[in-house]
Amino acid sequence: MAEFTLPANSKVKIGDTHKASGDAKRVRAFKIYRYDPDKGENPRLDTFEVDLDACGPMVLDALIKIKNEIDPSVTFRRSCREGICGSCSMNIDGTNTLACLKPIDEVRGDVKIYPLPHMEVIKDLVPDLSTAYAQLASVEPWLKTKTPPPPTTERLQSIEDREKLDGMWECVLCFSCSTSCPSYWWNGERYLGPAVLLQAYRWIADSRDEYTGERLDDLEDPFRLYRCHTIMNCTKTCPKGLNPAKAIAEIKKMLVMRR
Ligand code: SF4
Repeated sequence: MAEFTLPANSKVKIGDTHKASGDAKRVRAFKIYRYDPDKGENPRLDTFEVDLDACGPMVLDALIKIKNEIDPSVTFRRSCREGICGSCSMNIDGTNTLACLKPIDEVRGDVKIYPLPHMEVIKDLVPDLSTAYAQLASVEPWLKTKTPPPPTTERLQSIEDREKLDGMWECVLCFSCSTSCPSYWWNGERYLGPAVLLQAYRWIADSRDEYTGERLDDLEDPFRLYRCHTIMNCTKTCPKGLNPAKAIAEIKKMLVMRR
């Protein structure tokens, strides 16, 4: 049987433990992945004990408390703290999600927090999303038209056509889905991944967009689209309850139908 081991400098070591004060009654341990490429040291898992009676209900509340009160060097992205900006995506308790939408009470035992999987780590819980953003730009996620706009109105859309965009406009581009996808892990440079393909379909499905054919041409590629093997991790993990796998299936269907 094949046996795979991590390179010695990739092994995650046991890090520091920060104990809660003696009078804390409802203590929960947060085990947080720490990595600073500038230090040239192995990653480690630090343990922070937090008194839940003095902390907000979400994992992001605990992270902010840890950073403010215990170790200011703990590094993560966050902004809106209500599931709209998509910044605080990370792997919590083995699932990619948004820290601001993940209740601490949903996790049994220690709360293990890692960066989104299979991405280069800039520091601690911050992955390098440069490639994912470049892929997003490549699908030109904006309205593209050939005809001039109506002289006195905006480009209008029927209520039915507008409803076709439901389930896509809500995407906050957290990339939880793409980084849960084995096809994206293995071919992330060439496969666009579920987040970007959902965005591509959002514009393909928009009745006002006049570049549908060109958009489909651009996706008809063994890697950019067809590396999706319908594994469905994307839909399972999406913290906004969206269905990127369905969007990908719709693109594939349109490519078949136009032949
Ligand atoms: S589809 Fe869901 S998981 Fe994927 S980027 Fe959008 S919000 Fe995040």
